[in-house]
Amino acid sequence: MTRKSNHCTVAAGMFASLLAAAFVLSGPGSAEAYNWVGATNTATCSQLNMADNASHNIYQGGLRVDTVAALTWARTNVVDPTNVNTNAVSTSTSTTDVIAVNNYYTNECGHNWASGVFGAVSCHSVTASGRCQQHYMRINLTYMDSEGTSTERAVLAHEMGHTLGLAHRSETYANMYPYWPQATAYWDSHDVGHINTNY
Ligand SMILES: [Zn+2]
Repeated sequence: MTRKSNHCTVAAGMFASLLAAAFVLSGPGSAEAYNWVGATNTATCSQLNMADNASHNIYQGGLRVDTVAALTWARTNVVDPTNVNTNAVSTSTSTTDVIAVNNYYTNECGHNWASGVFGAVSCHSVTASGRCQQHYMRINLTYMDSEGTSTERAVLAHEMGHTLGLAHRSETYANMYPYWPQATAYWDSHDVGHINTNY
């Protein structure tokens, strides 16, 4: 999830849950070292799960043209340089890895989208090995309407990271930092290391 709000204006409960998730997932050591969720065997709106393999097919048939452009940029410049290879597919099935959708969301998956949620990822179904068979990646057009290309690219790269198992980081310089504006649309060597170690 990427949020427009800063720490002070995010609802206390929501921020607490984000922190809890980060630290539960992180284990001992610094938060930076452990933003990897692994295979969680979970398909809910509230928990991430790594993808089932390194061939990452993305259905983007319902996306607005600017969202497609930002997603294409993120795939080409951020994801494809790693061990994961993305493909945009024109039809979707129950095993398509990512269903990318955009809308003017209000309460999808229990999020208060109007409070500044730019995008969110959830695992829709799992494989026998507990990895995610299919993620949904939701992008909030309310904020895409008011933001420029650089923000859209940063948000799409961030959400794509979630579809592969990256969790949030506490470092403000990281793309997986959950609050807007992100300092970069690129993953750094730390995030790429998680990806390349696991795919
Ligand atoms: Zn996020």
